Amino acid sequence: MPEREMSSMERVLAVCRGEMPDRVPFVLTSREFGIKCHGMKFSQAYRDPDAYVASQVGLLERFGLDGVYDIWCTPAVDEAMGAHMLIPEDDSPSVPDPFLERPEDLNKLQPVDPQKDGRLPYLLEVVRKLKRAVGTDVPVIAWASPPFRTACMLRGMVNFYQDFHRRPEFAKELLEVSYAACVAYGKALVDAGADIICTSNPVANMDCISRKAYAEFSHPYSKRMWGELKEHGAKAVLFHTCGRWLDRYDLVCDENIDVVHCDKIELAEFKAKYTERVAVMGNVRSVMTLLHGAEEDVRRETLECLRQGAPFGRYIASADCAVPRDTPPANVQAMAGVVKQYGKYPLQW
Ligand SMILES: [Zn+2]
Repeated sequence: MPEREMSSMERVLAVCRGEMPDRVPFVLTSREFGIKCHGMKFSQAYRDPDAYVASQVGLLERFGLDGVYDIWCTPAVDEAMGAHMLIPEDDSPSVPDPFLERPEDLNKLQPVDPQKDGRLPYLLEVVRKLKRAVGTDVPVIAWASPPFRTACMLRGMVNFYQDFHRRPEFAKELLEVSYAACVAYGKALVDAGADIICTSNPVANMDCISRKAYAEFSHPYSKRMWGELKEHGAKAVLFHTCGRWLDRYDLVCDENIDVVHCDKIELAEFKAKYTERVAVMGNVRSVMTLLHGAEEDVRRETLECLRQGAPFGRYIASADCAVPRDTPPANVQAMAGVVKQYGKYPLQW
């Protein structure tokens, strides 16, 4: 057991490597919540890198978090490849219409230069400024799109799922083109100072595609991408499994990732099955409890997560998804308090 207090970086990486930290790390997907706490609108955070960095540093100090999140923009690579993106005044950006209506449109896609194209230079500037602000002791966590998600958005969900049967070769060609763009941006994130790459793939869960389709069209591209980014210097990869993933966690755990940020699972059960391969992060309910619950509910649920997740390490305390924008700060404080009080190793309860 370490005698001195670890830095946030040491604490989080210890958990990723299967070593014991001094206490359970506390990490929240906090982009929306931080923007609101700082009194900003989304659109402002996409114009003013210093304001966004200040919002993340503010959360770090106020709640004792063990990492900061970049401002990520889910469709940024899709836009850099040619798709049209919308940034609403106070909501997350999106690509409203499929860019590749017909398979022949594949040649409309452009190769991506992360230093020049679309919003990517701005996102990279935020990561550089975040790293400068928090230094080497705190991990900067930056979001990268898996090739499957980008391909799916460029083509449109329904079209892409139909391509699996009607024109699988086209689907794979589109995945390769998306792969090149996603990896180029991922490497630029690492070069800009991202320590941990985080990702999510909500269009590839059990509600969207079969396990068989996942194994063929998503898994190999993700596995290759996370492996390539780690070779490029990413210290860890964190995969947020948004929605239901129960029949494919074994595939997910084999994608060169270090942490599964889970949603709607029993932590103890998950750990019993997968703790040799990955660490787990979660899963206080973000909407039911953090947003709508009382402080007492937050304390009770955080404690239950610690009870299931904390024994023998390999656990990061967190919510089950992004912390909603309008979450009462007192609830986040209540969660932080429980992690600090009961999360120290050796566990005292
Ligand atoms: Zn989620």
